[in-house]
Amino acid sequence: MKLDETIITKAIVDRYTEKLKDAISVDVAIVGGGPAGLVAAYHLARKKKKVVLFERKLSIGGGMWGGGMMFNEIVVQEEGKRVLDELSISSRKYQKGYYTADSVEAASTLCSSAVKAGARIFNLMSVEDVMVREGKVIGVVINWTAVEMAQLHVDPLCVQAKYVVDATGHATEVAKVIERKVGAHLFTETGRVIGEKSLWAEVSEETTLENTKEIYPGVFVTGMAANATFGSYRMGPIFGGMLLSGEKVAKLILKQLK
Ligand SMILES: Cc1cc2nc3c(=O)[nH]c(=O)nc-3n(C[C@H](O)[C@H](O)[C@H](O)COP(=O)(O)OP(=O)(O)OC[C@H]3O[C@@H](n4cnc5c(N)ncnc54)[C@H](O)[C@@H]3O)c2cc1C
Repeated sequence: MKLDETIITKAIVDRYTEKLKDAISVDVAIVGGGPAGLVAAYHLARKKKKVVLFERKLSIGGGMWGGGMMFNEIVVQEEGKRVLDELSISSRKYQKGYYTADSVEAASTLCSSAVKAGARIFNLMSVEDVMVREGKVIGVVINWTAVEMAQLHVDPLCVQAKYVVDATGHATEVAKVIERKVGAHLFTETGRVIGEKSLWAEVSEETTLENTKEIYPGVFVTGMAANATFGSYRMGPIFGGMLLSGEKVAKLILKQLK
């Protein structure tokens, strides 16, 4: 068969436009494609919610690929292993209560599970702002990462969402935008993003879950963003808390969507 380059081009433009148009109004917009955002996307999409996830980088998976200091293995505890098992991600017992998994298998399977469950993922897109009406966030403002990197004067586009999830990791980008641009009080002790503390895995694995909650009407934080927003510790390459936090935020939003 002869190949026509113009058909290849049209196919890509048409299909991409279809996907993007379908994502302009959704139940949930997730910002950040690390482990927490991906698990949240998977659980929400499984329940037939319309979910879109925006990831700034070319690759999906956030800080998971690199394991710890580029040794591409991650550690999870008992509860985290349950999440890996559910998604058929292989893990091995290291010693009582500690399991390891290959970070490439983990990140790629989380991504694949979210997409196959029906979540739409757009890589190379950054969320730079939110839309707020009557004290509630009603959507996100997106632009190409390349535009952001080149600092081009290009206006963004908008996506309407019933709920927004800040899964941006250490950066807490959505929470910071709300603090800075909306001038709003977040549901933290200080009303602001408190910022993360130094590394303490045992405590931070627990607090990641506790801190997974709504921080402003319509906006939830998950994963490392939850700890950073509420001023808890970072935890290094142990990922159970991230996976469980993604599960929890999905449950909280599903309850609200009912
Ligand atoms: C480069 C990097 C270095 C890290 N180093 C450490 C470390 O030294 N110690 C430690 O404890 N943890 C570190 N982490 C985080 C660590 O890997 C985690 O604990 C875990 O990955 C956090 O999972 P998460 O899902 O909360 O967020 P992450 O895995 O951090 O994923 C967040 C994702 O959100 C994307 N994102 C951020 N802002 C936007 C936006 N505005 N629009 C679209 N996408 C956005 C990022 O590109 C990233 O892929 C690092 C993460 C990254 C990405």
